Amino acid sequence: MADAPFENMLAQMDRAKEYADVDDGIFERLKHPERTLKVTLPVELESGDVEVFEGYRCQFNSARGPFKGGVRFHPSVTQREVEALAGWMTWKTALVDLPYGGAKGGVICEPKELTDRDLERLTRRYTEGIRRMIGPETDVPAPDMNTNPQTMAWMMDTYSMYEGHTVPQVVTGKPLEIGGTPGRVEATGRGVSIVTGRLFEYLDRDLTDATVAIQGFGNVGSNAAKLLDEAGARIVATSDVTGAAYDPDGLDVDALDAHVAAGGLIDEYVAGTLRDVPTGDGDRNDDRDRSRWDAPEMLSNDELLTLDVDVLIPAAVEGVITEANVHDLRASAVVEAANGPTTVAADKVLSGRDVQVVPDILANAGGVIVSYLEWVQNAQEFSWPLETVNAELERRIGTAFDQTIEQYDEKDLPDLRTAAYTLALERTASAHEYRGLFP
Ligand code: GLU
Repeated sequence: MADAPFENMLAQMDRAKEYADVDDGIFERLKHPERTLKVTLPVELESGDVEVFEGYRCQFNSARGPFKGGVRFHPSVTQREVEALAGWMTWKTALVDLPYGGAKGGVICEPKELTDRDLERLTRRYTEGIRRMIGPETDVPAPDMNTNPQTMAWMMDTYSMYEGHTVPQVVTGKPLEIGGTPGRVEATGRGVSIVTGRLFEYLDRDLTDATVAIQGFGNVGSNAAKLLDEAGARIVATSDVTGAAYDPDGLDVDALDAHVAAGGLIDEYVAGTLRDVPTGDGDRNDDRDRSRWDAPEMLSNDELLTLDVDVLIPAAVEGVITEANVHDLRASAVVEAANGPTTVAADKVLSGRDVQVVPDILANAGGVIVSYLEWVQNAQEFSWPLETVNAELERRIGTAFDQTIEQYDEKDLPDLRTAAYTLALERTASAHEYRGLFP
């Protein structure tokens, strides 16, 4: 199980290799991470207890430039998962043509059980653990699951303390006040919304009133929901660990966002809206009364995945669309906001059924694109307005989308993932070829 994401990534590579112009020897090199550091992190918690955590930083490939990739805090983190995620970062940065390699970090912990003080100590200790590996020109971390601008501020500060001067460029996704860029927080969600729009254009379909189900309402899911809602799509379901809120007429995304931003859970939101349905003069269960109110019903996360919608957006963890549920999937398109949400076995079924899947390395690349724009601004010691950042994000992710479609159509490839992977593998392999094999 722990190896599943890595095995999945290798299987995705193998699938694309058939169509990619990549030398066998170089392909073999691309299957192995350059290095992974494992660190032991003893932390004195606010409670007075000492807990020993474990963390990783994997540097997968640097043929195209410095390593780049987020850090996640999650109980299910494993070394192999971090290595898979670092591999996906390599293919992602290559596909969207950023001058980076791929990396990823992770700490095994349950952030919900830690206080802010505990999280700060854990972040600083982890940064100390990996600080010999990272740096503005070597490896640049960023936020991922359960990490955010505050986490990046602590990482930047810890690294800078050792350097003896402030080094904003060592991480991206920082708060604006210390070298962050406008638009980074929403960037991944914005990218998801842009590629969904582009997919609909390609399929000659109208996004207005298209139904969308989004698994996960964290930073990526919620921002994608808001932007797609603004673009006229109907967000009919979204979820968190407590389950999914479903309303075929469309959820009130802003109300849900305000509830979740204030620390609320989806099941509480659904229960709260039901309480708000007025009894009026009539029957509380009167359909005519209820239909006037935004009263979603509660579904499980599995039920969300099989809703009959136009677009399914997995925006949570990896490995959720599998051989076990793919036959029940009814969405006509899947846009992968999460990293690695679809197994290769499920992929083959979807591709056989002509369900268009926009692969993770394209769909969720908005985050790392804007990370790059932040890094460039830090290097220039110059800051750009939000409009410039958003226009550059749209241009870059749009180009990658067009190139993927062109590859898919011209080479008559089985699906968009294969098209994206052939481009990413060929670009990385070509960098290896030019650089040669040391010594
Ligand atoms: N964690 C994000 C990802 O999976 C962003 C990485 C970055 O900005 O470096 O793409």
